[in-house]
Amino acid sequence: MMLFDSHAHVDGPEFDGDRGDVLARARAAGVRRMVVIGAVGDPTSAERAVALAEQDPDIWATVATHPHDVEKMTGDWWAVHERLAPHPRVVAIGETGLDYYYDHSPREQQQVAFARFLDLAHRVGKPVVCHIRDAHDDARAILKEGRAGELGCVIHCFTGTPDDARQYADAGYYVSFSGIVTYKTAQPLRDAVPLVPRDRLLIETDCPYLAPIPKRGKRNEPAFIVHTAEVVAQCASMNIEDLARQTAENAARVFRLTPD
Ligand SMILES: [Zn+2]
Ligand SMILES: [Zn+2]
Repeated sequence: MMLFDSHAHVDGPEFDGDRGDVLARARAAGVRRMVVIGAVGDPTSAERAVALAEQDPDIWATVATHPHDVEKMTGDWWAVHERLAPHPRVVAIGETGLDYYYDHSPREQQQVAFARFLDLAHRVGKPVVCHIRDAHDDARAILKEGRAGELGCVIHCFTGTPDDARQYADAGYYVSFSGIVTYKTAQPLRDAVPLVPRDRLLIETDCPYLAPIPKRGKRNEPAFIVHTAEVVAQCASMNIEDLARQTAENAARVFRLTPD
């Protein structure tokens, strides 16, 4: 089986003690490729993600500042992203977007930064990875205004309604499901899966957060994606091998990687 973890935060300090073991367990579990999201906290996350991607031919990086943290952005932070965005191992700008659930940064600042990261994505000709929580109407407007469909667009860790999923798919965006899809209360997410065309489906861990059942409550890691793949495959009426291959192909397409 060939799994692709389209969204992992293995650059983070949670993995400093055993990163090599974590990556080895991922490979043993069939995770052949992954995208490391360099966007948590300050831009050292972007630097760490790029460094990981430079060391490992099966890892690629993204760069941005998470909507939680945009309030703290300075000109220096933007300069780091501008410098790293064209790097050959950077395959997308993200995660960027809107999070009105936590509201850690003022909404207007989130909107301004989101539009500016979309502009950066256009300038370097790369897709965007979007974090959208309780903000789907505003996000759709900004994505449309920012011509995200021309870039390639991933709605990561999708948590909207089935109708939101359909609207994103209709716009040509990719919809990525995390371990949340395995949780008992997440029936609306399971209902959303078959509304996304198979060639727009992605899976991710978003590790170290959101470990899927039966690992819920533990530190998540890429090897655990198999549990998410099982549930998404069931919802999509596919067997897990086909789902793994399809989502890996989709990830390679949106991130413009050579086919594996
Ligand atoms: Zn996110
Ligand atoms: Zn994330």
